[in-house]
Amino acid sequence: MILGFFLPWIAYGAILALHVALPGRWIDGYVRDDQGRPLRYRLNGLVVLVVAVGIAVVLVAVGAAPADELWRHRWAELAGACVLGLLFTAALVLPAPPTGKPLLADLYLGRRENPRWRGGTVDAKMWLYLAGAVLLELNVLSFAAHQERASGHLSAAVALSAGLLTYFVVDYLTFEHVHLYTYDLFAERVGFKLSFGCLAFYPYFYCVGLWARADEPDPHAPVWLLVLAGVVFAAGWTLARGANMQKYVFKRDPTVRAFGLLQPRAVSDGERTLLCSGFWGAARHINYLGEILMAVGITLALGAPGDPVLWLYPLYYVVLLVPRQIDDDRRCAAKYGALWDQYRARTRWRIVPGIY
Ligand code: NDP
Repeated sequence: MILGFFLPWIAYGAILALHVALPGRWIDGYVRDDQGRPLRYRLNGLVVLVVAVGIAVVLVAVGAAPADELWRHRWAELAGACVLGLLFTAALVLPAPPTGKPLLADLYLGRRENPRWRGGTVDAKMWLYLAGAVLLELNVLSFAAHQERASGHLSAAVALSAGLLTYFVVDYLTFEHVHLYTYDLFAERVGFKLSFGCLAFYPYFYCVGLWARADEPDPHAPVWLLVLAGVVFAAGWTLARGANMQKYVFKRDPTVRAFGLLQPRAVSDGERTLLCSGFWGAARHINYLGEILMAVGITLALGAPGDPVLWLYPLYYVVLLVPRQIDDDRRCAAKYGALWDQYRARTRWRIVPGIY
């Protein structure tokens, strides 16, 4: 019980040590400092993931822990991660100067925009995402291992869902630099939402489907359902990664073709430009649709579409991303004025072309 409670603390300590000790590349971000210079970030997420998984595999191989150790302690770990998320929030928010909003709002949304330590070597936002992603992956592997240990058989459904979640994590860490251009990085501060979200919610809720199914008998999912899951996931990934990459390329150089193919078309007020072709011509946040479809694919892969618990994961994306789209629309309308209206007239749909 005690060990389980502190396992996420130990894991996060190890991930921090690996992040600092392993080689990383320094990259200019999108966020600017007070002098207008881009903040620089030291990124090494993929290496940290590989080494962390390697260490876990060695610990299992030498008999220091069973492969499903994280599964066995999952409730105590969740409690430990929640407490750590709260403590981390308090430690980051309370010593910082108030924003003028009520204390609860400051605690939830944070006071500091870009806390960083060791001369920027550790950026709070990027480390939080890294820590949550690595622990999520360790949970995914351990939960899948549990099914194999408990029933002597790893079902195709659990294997596929775990594989797709692994792809999701690896993809995020491969494109960490692209995520320097996202809303959380340039528009949010670090409070409960991000700290608790990354330390407790991300590693334990994103695998809610595996949590629910790893102990169930093999559902013998029909092959067509598994194929459908793969297709839906791949379609979602294409939309999310495609849109994010197209915008990333455009922000860095508005004349370059994305993927060597998509000639950028933009609306402009002579000073600022907004992309209105390719993914960004189909809907203003088609990347959110992609994210939701990936979650649907991960859920369908579990082979039990009648189980309502499994749908919590895609539902969470809808609840997160629809208000975020509305918020971002408001932010962009304030920032771009008439240019945003022009873009909205060209790209009518918010998230789902033809529907919403
Ligand atoms: P976007 O990547 O859509 O970024 C929105 C910003 O992009 C706007 O504020 C604006 O900022 C700029 N922008 C909007 N439209 C245009 C345009 N047409 N041309 C040029 N710039 C434009 O949203 P997010 O940052 O919210 O999301 C990024 C990714 O992260 C998405 O794929 C999302 O689904 C994913 N995500 C994943 C989560 C997860 O848990 N897996 C959670 C949340 C998000 P500017 O001021 O720079 O112009």
